[in-house]
Amino acid sequence: MLKAKKREIPAEELAVALKMSAENAGVSVVAKTLDKDFPVFDVPVNDKVLIYVPKVAGPNGEFADMEDFLMDRFGAHYCIQGKQGQYIRCVDKVELPSYDLDGTCPFCGASKEVWDLTRARFRDIARAKGLDPEAEDTREALKNEYSALCKQQVIGNPTVKVTFPIVVIDTKIDDKTGKHTTTPVIGEDKQLSWRVMWYTCSEKAYTDIWLKSLESFSDENGETPATPVGNFFVLDYTYTPGVNQKPTKRDSVRELKVMGKPMAEKFNQVKPVFDKAAKDWTPTKAAEVVIDNVLYTKEELETACDDYMKDTRAKLAVYEMQGETGSTALVTLGTAAADAVLASFSGTEDVEETGEAPPQVGIGTTETDEEAVA
Ligand SMILES: [Zn+2]
Repeated sequence: MLKAKKREIPAEELAVALKMSAENAGVSVVAKTLDKDFPVFDVPVNDKVLIYVPKVAGPNGEFADMEDFLMDRFGAHYCIQGKQGQYIRCVDKVELPSYDLDGTCPFCGASKEVWDLTRARFRDIARAKGLDPEAEDTREALKNEYSALCKQQVIGNPTVKVTFPIVVIDTKIDDKTGKHTTTPVIGEDKQLSWRVMWYTCSEKAYTDIWLKSLESFSDENGETPATPVGNFFVLDYTYTPGVNQKPTKRDSVRELKVMGKPMAEKFNQVKPVFDKAAKDWTPTKAAEVVIDNVLYTKEELETACDDYMKDTRAKLAVYEMQGETGSTALVTLGTAAADAVLASFSGTEDVEETGEAPPQVGIGTTETDEEAVA
């Protein structure tokens, strides 16, 4: 008989293995946690969820001050390979000798090449359309094309994300709509059914949606809380999809509305139980078990980065052979050639949904994109 035991497996290997095992089960699920006792919240498609934000214990085991909301705040590069996308924790300014981390990030380091390729391809498009690639108004005229090129970048600039635990509470389903209500299910044993899970969003969403929601919310003491900690919320992912369109997870994320939810006293009395259950859900734990948050060694990062960059570097080499200013052969060709060039760029657009919309590299962003990560 095989006896299971807990052992140290490099996070990267385990992530791959978990993914394979999910595929083996006939369900293609991107594994999100390395420890099944610390699951990651999965965004529901066009539905709503009742949650509680528990207090998190600090390094000394004491509950943190309410004002001091502990969360794992980190930069993440959205990286694309074929139709798969993943977040990789940025290690810029992180110094950790045992991981050989010296404050530099290989993914940030690759940024210049990524942008060089974007610019070279943009020049091709502009010239093929008979426009001057360096002219100010060319970027504006070709903003859709530019935006598409940015979305195809294999390594994105880091976006700041935050991860913290939430308590997800089972609620009744509305028979008419088939969607969840915000009324908790109370079992025959008179108990609530709930589970602690990791929740991640961009820091921007935390500021713009979560913190904004607190402005119009009073807790049980009639006060406006400074952080979501210690309160119930409804995460409302419902929206009306366009005609003939099915609701998607990505759009559900974009449509998220967070609303503070005053609850009856009997529910408030359960808060200490939730807080106790979330005691070990610290930022350190998040970096240990949540795949998007995992801290990798310098060597692991370098290997992965070289792998991601293979195609970009090969294409750049071709441009370099054609001379520094890129392909000039297309200059005199008409719009038919332009369409051909554009068509060749459509290869990597449909990146698999990962539950959250990838960072948007905005239209009109210029050199500052690079400087931000320099
Ligand atoms: Zn980085």
